[in-house]
Parts: sequence; structure tokens; C-alpha cells
Amino acid sequence: MIVTAGGKGFRMKAPDFDYACPKTLREALALLDENGRDVMPLAGGQSLMPVLNFRLAAPDLLVDLNAISELTGITDQNDQIVIGAMTRYADLETSEPVTRHLPLLKQALPFIAHPAIRNRGTIGGSVALADPAAEMPALLLALDATIILASTTGERQVAADNFFTGLYETARRPDEIVKAVSVPKAFGARRFAFDELTRRHGDYAMVGLAATVRATSPFQELRLVFFGIADRALRSVDAERALNGRTCDDQQAMQRATEALAALSFDSDVHSSSSTKRHLAAVLLKRVMRTL
Ligand SMILES: Cc1cc2nc3c(=O)[nH]c(=O)nc-3n(C[C@H](O)[C@H](O)[C@H](O)COP(=O)(O)OP(=O)(O)OC[C@H]3O[C@@H](n4cnc5c(N)ncnc54)[C@H](O)[C@@H]3O)c2cc1C
Repeated sequence: MIVTAGGKGFRMKAPDFDYACPKTLREALALLDENGRDVMPLAGGQSLMPVLNFRLAAPDLLVDLNAISELTGITDQNDQIVIGAMTRYADLETSEPVTRHLPLLKQALPFIAHPAIRNRGTIGGSVALADPAAEMPALLLALDATIILASTTGERQVAADNFFTGLYETARRPDEIVKAVSVPKAFGARRFAFDELTRRHGDYAMVGLAATVRATSPFQELRLVFFGIADRALRSVDAERALNGRTCDDQQAMQRATEALAALSFDSDVHSSSSTKRHLAAVLLKRVMRTL
């Protein structure tokens, strides 16, 4: 059913939009495929509603995903944990498969905003939004996760490495819905660390770092993903290279890794200059490597 808000005479800060609440993914995808209409999915609404109220977007139609049971749930599938797009952060925090197999996610979830936001915000919403200061895109990059996209023509999978393409930009086409994310399970020898610097607990990070490594002495298969520094979360491949094959007490390798951060682009924002961000990234690198 589609309700036309303008036709009902509601007064709202957001521009008028039509609203649909399909019960199945198939119906939702058909609505997204309507030619010539600007259609946006609605998940937790924690980012989309402010965007509408500030009139930064004016879609013709909102497709509410909240009644679609196919988009929820956390399933253990061989070497992967598959998380439905409409899974709330709060559900991830209490999930047994996440606690057991995705310790980096478990560790980082309390850093995402506050409980009220985590009760509504969804993993799919964060992935689709691609906020450069958000934790989830960085975590999925560090964990080498895959984003599962659905459209009326079928499904496709995009590696997190290729999904986040710019400031609030992703490889998702407008006719696609993020259906799920698939995250490789952590097996015995892998270690994880996460840290971020914020002005107050629960704020978006000024700079954050998610790290994974296969072995710690010497380091192998290190992945270092910084967020809050540029238009998207970024891996520092040069810093990884400086540290891989080295031990944690190798000060020269640590120095080279710190210098290698210069290869990343650090953008100034309202809170900090690019040089402050670079300094904070170096502080986090030291802390996180110590933890690993
Ligand atoms: C006060 C406050 C503080 C916050 N602090 C943080 C923070 O510290 N860290 C952090 O990461 N986030 C933070 N957030 C954002 C919060 O995590 C958002 O909820 C989340 O980023 C978006 O998820 P959502 O489910 O609310 O998506 P929505 O707001 O519903 O949607 C966001 C965007 O994604 C699209 N979308 C949603 N779901 C899908 C889907 N399945 N497929 C395709 N497109 C989709 C929508 O069309 C919209 O463009 C904060 C929000 C608030 C209000």
C-alpha cells in the first residue's frame, strides 16, 4: 500500500514523499525498479530521517524495509557469518555467532553511537550510507567481508574493498537493496584490535582504526583500516607492508609504518585539521599495534 503524505495534509519538516511498506524483498525490489521515480529504502531511519528533515534529499517514494523478514537474521554458513541488512546493532551485540566468531565486531559495537541509536540503526543502513566516519564500513574492510546486493535481476556480491567508493558513495546501484553482509569467521590464530578517538563517548570518530592480523610474531597478513580521515575508510597498505614480517618490538618497522601513513589522504573537517588527523592516526597505530 502506498500512502501519499501530502494528500493527507500532514505538516512535516521533510518534503512530501510517498511511503510503501512491502512485506517481501521481491515487492521492495519491484518498487525500487520503478523508472523515473527517485526511490529510497528506509531502514532504521537514524540517518535518513535527519537527511529528509534537513531537505538534503527529496525522494518521491520511501520503501520501508522494516517488515521484510528475509532481511533480518544472523546465520552461521560454513566459514562465514551472514548478517541480514535489517539486523540492528543491538542484535549484533547480543548475538552468539557474533560473539563467538566475529570478535572484532563484538569489540567495536559499543563504540557506535549510543544504545538508543544502536536499537534502531541497522548494519545495511550503515553500509549503504557509507559515512566516512562510521565504524561499520571500516570493520567490514578489515574483516575482508562481502556485501550481498539484490535487484529484480538477481543478486551479486561485492567485496568490501570495492564497495565503498567515495563520500557517501558505494558500488550499489539505485535499483539494488543491500540484502546482507557476509563476514569470514575468525579462526584461532587471527587477532584483532580496534580503537578510535572521539570528543565524547558515542560521537562519530575523529579518527579510528580497525586492525586484523593472522599471526603476531612476526606479523602476517596485517590489515590496517583507518576511518574518519578521508572521504571513506582507507587501508594503509604501505604501513601494513612496513610491519608484515616484523615483530612487535621492531622500532624501526614501527617508525617506517608511521611514516607510511603520509601516503593516505587526510582531509580536514570541522573538528580537526588534516595534520591533526595524521597525528591522531599515528597515535592510534601505536596503540593498536601494542594491543595486537
Ligand atoms: C545522534 C546519532 C549519532 C550517531 N553516531 C554514529 C556513530 O558514532 N557511528 C556510526 O557508525 N553511526 C552513527 N550514527 C548513524 C547510525 O549508525 C545510523 O543508524 C546508520 O548509519 C544508518 O543506519 P539506519 O539503519 O538508521 O539507516 P537509514 O537511516 O534508514 O538509511 C541510511 C541510508 O541507507 C539507505 N539504506 C538503508 N538500508 C538500506 C538497504 N538495506 N539497502 C540499500 N539502501 C539502504 C537509505 O536509503 C539511506 O540513504 C549516528 C546517528 C545518530 C542519529
